[in-house]
Amino acid sequence: MSFWNKNKETENEQVSEPGVGKVKNIIAIASGKGGVGKSTVTTNLAMALSEQGHKVGVLDADIYGPSQPIMLGSHDGAQSNDGYAIPVKSNGVSFISMSTVAQQKGPTIMRAPIALKILNQFLTSVMWGELDYLLIDLPPGTGDIQLTLAQQAKLTGAIIVTTPQKVSVEISQRGLQMFQQLNIPIIGVIENMSGFTCSHCQEVTAIFKEGGAANMCQEFDVPFLGAIPLDPLIMMSSDEGRSLSEDKEGHAYQAYQKVAESFAHQLESSAANKMLEVE
Ligand code: ADP
Repeated sequence: MSFWNKNKETENEQVSEPGVGKVKNIIAIASGKGGVGKSTVTTNLAMALSEQGHKVGVLDADIYGPSQPIMLGSHDGAQSNDGYAIPVKSNGVSFISMSTVAQQKGPTIMRAPIALKILNQFLTSVMWGELDYLLIDLPPGTGDIQLTLAQQAKLTGAIIVTTPQKVSVEISQRGLQMFQQLNIPIIGVIENMSGFTCSHCQEVTAIFKEGGAANMCQEFDVPFLGAIPLDPLIMMSSDEGRSLSEDKEGHAYQAYQKVAESFAHQLESSAANKMLEVE
């Protein structure tokens, strides 16, 4: 099955072969519960990494509820080259999503085996080209899609996104344990919606408590990549498909820059450790 329009000619940069062969790092972004901001974190981490000079792609694996076209700010359809899809580029990030390849209105209604087939095509029949990072925005939970991708996507590692409160942390731990059981390294945990700063008095309120992700990192001995504040600007920029770099002084922009740096640093040091193990 192929979704993309074979007749459209592409004006985008040419990349020579389909698939992820030239992608240096494939990273799954996972959460236990929906609504904790996993897609938002994927988008903004991708934009922050791109701003720091890396080549970044996003594969939106949420077939039934794709959000990346809204959050990355492009509703263009993927063009094709010889029957292979060219990712859409927006805000410095190349991405592919269910709604870039099947531009229908209304819900996506399909059985799981078909969804899995489409995800396989997202990995094998998309011309990703040379990328430093391909971030995979997983749907929430530890079901068929998460398991299949974890096994098929040759993942470099996974990032777990959680909000600070117990109900999110405890469910995210199951995602973390799924990756550990599959021997996929945990690059780290990001705490989202971590504290709200009042714009009038600057007092910080821990609306969803604090420290949940840091405790989880301690318990499972995995790195803490940083905390992203609860900030209306993040919600608005996601809804409007805009980059946080429009307010470089803002807490949100700076928090993502820090998280992107510690993510890249973490990957570098785990790659270095691997090399040492081999030598
Ligand atoms: P998930 O992918 O976990 O289901 P989303 O990324 O779709 O969650 O986020 C759910 C909603 O929360 C979106 O409207 C998004 O804009 C908003 N949101 C996410 N993170 C933050 C944040 N740190 N501050 C404010 N709003 C946020």
